Amino acid sequence: MPKFISLIRNAAGIDAGRFETVAAVRWFTPPVRHVLRYPWGFKTDNRLYISSETHIPPHKGDTMAETRKTKLLIIGSGPAGYTAGVYASRAMLEPILVQGIEPGGQLTTTTEVENWPGDTEVQGPDLMIRMEAHAKAVGTEIIGDIITDLDLSKRPFTATGDSGTKYVADAVILATGARAKWLGLDSEEKFKGFGVSACATCDGFFYRGQEIVVIGGGNTAVEEALFLTNFASKVTLIHRRDELRAEKILINRLMKNPKIEPLWFHELEEVYGADSPLGVEGIKVKHTKTGEITDIPCKGVFVAIGHAPANELIKDTLETHMGGYVVTKPDSTETSIPGVFAAGDLTDHKYRQAVTSAGMGCMAALEAERFLAEVGDDHGKDTSLPLGYGAEVG
Ligand SMILES: Cc1cc2nc3c(=O)[nH]c(=O)nc-3n(C[C@H](O)[C@H](O)[C@H](O)COP(=O)(O)OP(=O)(O)OC[C@H]3O[C@@H](n4cnc5c(N)ncnc54)[C@H](O)[C@@H]3O)c2cc1C
Repeated sequence: MPKFISLIRNAAGIDAGRFETVAAVRWFTPPVRHVLRYPWGFKTDNRLYISSETHIPPHKGDTMAETRKTKLLIIGSGPAGYTAGVYASRAMLEPILVQGIEPGGQLTTTTEVENWPGDTEVQGPDLMIRMEAHAKAVGTEIIGDIITDLDLSKRPFTATGDSGTKYVADAVILATGARAKWLGLDSEEKFKGFGVSACATCDGFFYRGQEIVVIGGGNTAVEEALFLTNFASKVTLIHRRDELRAEKILINRLMKNPKIEPLWFHELEEVYGADSPLGVEGIKVKHTKTGEITDIPCKGVFVAIGHAPANELIKDTLETHMGGYVVTKPDSTETSIPGVFAAGDLTDHKYRQAVTSAGMGCMAALEAERFLAEVGDDHGKDTSLPLGYGAEVG
């Protein structure tokens, strides 16, 4: 266990838990669940939960800042980051992976995942623990730090961690993901993963034959509402105005769908439901003009007010589009800067799934390996050859 953690533990006389603590996330109330997501060092209810296996750099001010050199720096610990770690480690690149503020990424905020191939059903946090263990087992060095600054103006690239550590890397894979936008209500937070969702593709299947609501009035909301009619008996679309900001063709489809009922000039006031087991039973909506409150019984609430890619580190240096998603070359994870690759939800405004993110993580690692071989001691390598398994026969 890093000395830093032992010091805190001894000084404060608090418990330390292993990363496996996260597996218990779903049994806790949302605020505790939220805090439990920071397995490399957080405190709640006077208990400190820490991964005993994750390297934590000394905090700035504690000692002289470290400098870590690596062939490949992976930023992000969702499915894209960990998959990149697996492939890059097996290519002997000895990658360093920095986890960020949400080790395990978005899937740690959900419960059942039923579309990860090979698992009929798996809990999101459990899946991410397994991905981390896999990346670590094949040699990825996993670091509990947050990159606060990234200099891509020259190679080697330099990243600075919140800890003060400097990471110097010949190539970088950006896998910082995206965030669903939320309304910010306490009751929304309470039922997240227990009836409140931001992903119809992920969670629609759980609402077969049930009444659900979709909040929003843009493309995302219309697409989600249409998709959800495959499962739900009724979808109420709640929108603050009486006009949708979506493509005409989608609006037409929505209006013709007998399962969808729009409720104009209303906004979500509160989600309510049972505490044990935690589950949504309905919502209260407020009329935006009269203030009148209406009760809508429902089992699922889909907040569909958009997504935002976590692009803070690169929004001024890399080309982005569609509201900030990083642009990559067609059929590739290469960005506008050679040696910088982007994978997962950070680049993907369309599919936003764990399996597609993992696939892009794989691509990024293979492409980084090819790049490093080319700029290293293997100039002139034939780049027309296919990458990956079976490449030698291509
Ligand atoms: C509630 C919910 C349920 C979902 N359910 C499903 C499902 O059932 N099936 C499915 O396929 N998909 C599901 N998804 C979508 C899936 O979670 C995402 O598509 C996937 O996690 C994206 O993976 P990623 O690796 O690109 O990024 P993310 O999972 O978003 O991970 C991003 C990572 O980047 C790190 N990071 C960010 N900024 C920094 C920084 N500055 N320094 C270091 N690290 C940083 C974060 O800490 C995090 O580890 C769900 C999403 C949500 C929100």
